Amino acid sequence: MSSVPVAVVTGSNKGIGFAIVRALCKQFPGDVYLTARDPGRGQEAVAKLQQEGLRALFHQLDIDDLQSIRALRDFLKEKYGGLNVLVNNAGIAFKVHDTAPFAVQAEVTLKTNFFGTRNVCMELLPLMKPYGRVVNVSSMVSSSALGGCSQELQQKFRSDTITEEELVQLMNKFVEDTKKGVHDKEGWPNTAYGVSKIGVTVLSRIQARLLDEKRKGDHILLNACCPGWVRTDMAGPKATKSPDEGAETPVYLALLPSDADAPHGQFVSNKTVRPW
Ligand code: NAP
Repeated sequence: MSSVPVAVVTGSNKGIGFAIVRALCKQFPGDVYLTARDPGRGQEAVAKLQQEGLRALFHQLDIDDLQSIRALRDFLKEKYGGLNVLVNNAGIAFKVHDTAPFAVQAEVTLKTNFFGTRNVCMELLPLMKPYGRVVNVSSMVSSSALGGCSQELQQKFRSDTITEEELVQLMNKFVEDTKKGVHDKEGWPNTAYGVSKIGVTVLSRIQARLLDEKRKGDHILLNACCPGWVRTDMAGPKATKSPDEGAETPVYLALLPSDADAPHGQFVSNKTVRPW
């Protein structure tokens, strides 16, 4: 078993995830895994970094596929005996002009952004080594979407005692409410992406609390963040930040020094903790 530290970035064959891997290759003292659901796209991305003189390793990972997540988990357990840095970056967004019915957009978006991310956490968080760092890439849109929720929902999403089960129930309820055409009446905002990212931010707050309860002595820090508005296939060419600039906050959180005890359980953008 290797004692080399190991970092994993989900959805990193392109966009912000790719830039996070690039930065970690330069700054993280260990093995860095670029992961992708499509091995061809993943290997191509690894080769691109190699041309820049950087060495990333590849492992397949489709966060929608529990078997794929478990295969990565078993690999990490066997080869490294755990994991030091996990960046949950993989995500999707329908284009504004997409004509798919809202209920379809809701189901598909939450499947990857919330439920896929949660499944990765369920399988990989138990592997986190002491002083591990976990970064869940959310979005400022989670904050604006929270503001668009009913007072009752806002209270639930801001609660310091909400459980993961309660959050999962609420995320499922959103999808069901869109199918019944009652999401408006039930207090949800008109953004499936926004609700999925509310899920990611609230999940991060819950997970940080659980780490405090169960593994306080291990000094693991877990945060949600927004990379900013970044020029990628998702956000388009008009966005203000380059992918490397978008990677800065996630990388800052992934490399928090071992004597840091904060931020933890926070929503961070531009390396600054934001109110939730
Ligand atoms: P992107 O260029 O579209 O890249 C998304 C990445 O996620 C791709 O590598 C994609 O793989 C991967 N992915 C999608 N579904 C996956 C799955 N089921 N399993 C594994 N990988 C999957 O988007 P981006 O702008 O870099 O976004 C990265 C993260 O930042 C997302 O979570 C996004 O919501 C968040 N974010 C972005 C912005 C922005 O302005 N760009 C702002 C706020 C937050 P494929 O190539 O196979 O599709």
